[in-house]
Amino acid sequence: MSISSRRFLVIGAHPDDPDLRFGGSAIKLTQAGHQVKFVSMTNGNCGHLTQGGAALAARRYEESQNAARLFGVQQYQILDVNDCELEPSLAMRKQVIGIIRDFQPDVVLTHRSCDYHADHRACAQLVQDAAYLVMVPQFCPESPIPAQNPVFAYVYDAFVEPRPLRVDAAVDIDSVLNAKNRALDCHVSQFYEWLAYEKGYANTDFSQYSWEQKSDYLTEHWGARFKNAADLARKQLQHCLGQKAGAKVKYAEVFEQSAYGSILPQEEFQQLFLE
Ligand SMILES: [Zn+2]
Repeated sequence: MSISSRRFLVIGAHPDDPDLRFGGSAIKLTQAGHQVKFVSMTNGNCGHLTQGGAALAARRYEESQNAARLFGVQQYQILDVNDCELEPSLAMRKQVIGIIRDFQPDVVLTHRSCDYHADHRACAQLVQDAAYLVMVPQFCPESPIPAQNPVFAYVYDAFVEPRPLRVDAAVDIDSVLNAKNRALDCHVSQFYEWLAYEKGYANTDFSQYSWEQKSDYLTEHWGARFKNAADLARKQLQHCLGQKAGAKVKYAEVFEQSAYGSILPQEEFQQLFLE
């Protein structure tokens, strides 16, 4: 595995999942010269109260491409699978394996299987299914197997059944929180409409908000989970940054190494995520 330039493949269920869960890390890593690719397994065409279908899918594609530029990711690939309809099928398994073999990542990140959304669970299943099969030359022989099996990992979630996410690596995102919000801001249909409606902001006209107000709103509602993640990862942050600096970190993106794919000692796994 190359330590000087690493390749990260983040496979989420919807066009905003990689952004939320890996956005701060993506900014830091791409600025340091590493390669990051985002994939959304669905086109997001159910993610709205009043809009849907092809028009919403097109809108969300545009939003994702705009966000991708701000995150510095090399490509944001959106698969043409309807939102809320992702299944861990053989056809999708083959597609995921093709994506991994093409990009040749050092690390593949995805959701855990214990998640509220059916698409997140299906996505998690598909990536786990790929972790071994990606190295089987006779499975999908049209694409060559990588030189080395990637490391597989899970992005942060707050679910505690059957157990909370185990912190194997943590990334301090305080210095890039504003930049992450700038990129999340591209997903207007989500953070200012659909998810805003779910958060009780249905009647708020965000176009009247200053950037500071928008950034505060994004931090309050979508940064909060990464504040919890920083608390969960406190020991790890102090281990990486020292007692004092680690204690001060407010927001962190944290990761758990999967039991499948290449397995690294925890220290080396953490090193993967540091610039
Ligand atoms: Zn999602």
